[in-house]
Amino acid sequence: MSGSKNGPRPPAEVLLAAPRGFCAGVRRAIDAVTDALVAHGPPVYVRRAIVHNLAVVADLERLGAVFVEEIDAVPPGAVIVLSAHGVTPAVAAAARRRGAVVYDAVCPLVAKVHREVERHRRDGRHVVLIGHAGHPEIVGTLGRIASGGATLVRAAADVAALPFGAGEPLALAVQTTFSVDDAAQVVEALRERFADLAEPPASDICYATHNRQAAVRAIAERADAVVVVGADFSSNAARLGEVARERCGAVQLVADGEGLDWDLLPARGGVIGLTAAASTPEASVRDVVRALRQRYRVTLSEHRAAVETRRFRKVRVGAAAQPRAAA
Ligand code: SF4
Repeated sequence: MSGSKNGPRPPAEVLLAAPRGFCAGVRRAIDAVTDALVAHGPPVYVRRAIVHNLAVVADLERLGAVFVEEIDAVPPGAVIVLSAHGVTPAVAAAARRRGAVVYDAVCPLVAKVHREVERHRRDGRHVVLIGHAGHPEIVGTLGRIASGGATLVRAAADVAALPFGAGEPLALAVQTTFSVDDAAQVVEALRERFADLAEPPASDICYATHNRQAAVRAIAERADAVVVVGADFSSNAARLGEVARERCGAVQLVADGEGLDWDLLPARGGVIGLTAAASTPEASVRDVVRALRQRYRVTLSEHRAAVETRRFRKVRVGAAAQPRAAA
């Protein structure tokens, strides 16, 4: 365990990764809920976690948002917001039948992947989707493709098992929050095995995932321990942990300062890397820094891997939106 509250505190150099925390898609989804609450008044129903972070969900609940697992838990005629991860067309249709007004807060970069896979199917290509089974984004993307039109793969080893000939017309798509390094290996394996493989014009892995993974990679190389702040059910938080683990032996994923495992931090002081998933509010990072200050004499410095200027147009809410409109 590190220096106690009563004993002398050892020094710790805390390297803050930048960019970290909220991306443009997460901000847009949270704004859609708060704007809907202002425009319509509470309650506003949200299907599943609007973004994968319990602190964000709790903040929105305090304002009057009600989170439900499925649309049939929403009272008829209510205001509904669909999450940033995207939904299947069947869920969107169920929401439109149920709600008086439906706002779709799907991230524009997820919606771009939806359009790509739909185009590939129209072109007669079987879609090989690289992603994690059961993740809401993957469920939403697969839901755009008729049964038998797509195959999900996770690792390069899965490519050998694909039941297609070398000349079969295929297309690849990638979960926006997938590991950049792992995706590159799968794509390489697909290129080696298949001659007619349509690829996205630009990476499906979004700018925020690229930048956060690059930033944590840079600090993990210099750190004795790395703390990733995020929810344990967040895909992009898990990927940040994996990237850090390739370069540092002591990595932990925590929701806030209370969750810190002091046994994974340097007892006599040292260098601690700190980052946050795209769905993690900065308040949770500050909470971790506060907890670290109780055990260490902390010096903080920020290490920027990229400058982010991307903003998405807001979801049109209230009078600005058409009844039953999707953004
Ligand atoms: S992580 Fe990427 S795809 Fe997901 S909401 Fe943020 S910008 Fe959009």
